[in-house]
Amino acid sequence: YGDPSQKIDYVFKVVLIGDSAVGKSQILARFARNEFSLDSKATIGVEFQTRTLVIQHKSVKAQIWDTAGQERYRAVTSAYYRGAVGAMLVYDITKRQTFDHIPRWLEELRSHADKNIVIILIGNKCDLENQRVVPTEDAKEFAEKEGLFFLETSALESTNVESAFLTVLTEIFNIVN
Ligand code: GDP
Ligand code: MG
Repeated sequence: YGDPSQKIDYVFKVVLIGDSAVGKSQILARFARNEFSLDSKATIGVEFQTRTLVIQHKSVKAQIWDTAGQERYRAVTSAYYRGAVGAMLVYDITKRQTFDHIPRWLEELRSHADKNIVIILIGNKCDLENQRVVPTEDAKEFAEKEGLFFLETSALESTNVESAFLTVLTEIFNIVN
């Protein structure tokens, strides 16, 4: 998970957004430390974690920001979005409301962030297939209409977490190169 002495070619700030309890902090824990906790505490304080990876022979430090319990509408400040080149818009496939709020989050993102920001829509908790209420097709259609990448993930089972981050980081990398 990254040699701290290595030289860094790029630092990319990526923000996690979406309703409370969709799994943002656990997605980040899985990506940054390969950890997962079933009774994760609500995130407190502004927080980011980093992981350095190699993309096309360059070392890229991903600086991933996690909302600090500011998921109420409009509570995320513009400082959170400042300088972000990527965003992960997360909902929970077992909670319809979290998907219904995605257009709001997208609007908020588009009003605060750089217009070229790379965005991926993420349907998390795909391990809970028997409790699914958001069809994959609905999300895929929304993502296509809005020009977003899309993946379903499970932070618990590690499904697609790495791919989701790699999708965003590689796209950003390709834009700056
Ligand atoms: P946040 O508020 O968006 O940061 O959500 P958390 O990361 O704190 O997760 C909220 C709850 O959902 C916690 O109990 C997590 O353990 C659980 N959770 C997160 N990701 C998953 C997942 O992929 N599958 C399942 N089954 N539970 C998850
Ligand atoms: Mg959290």
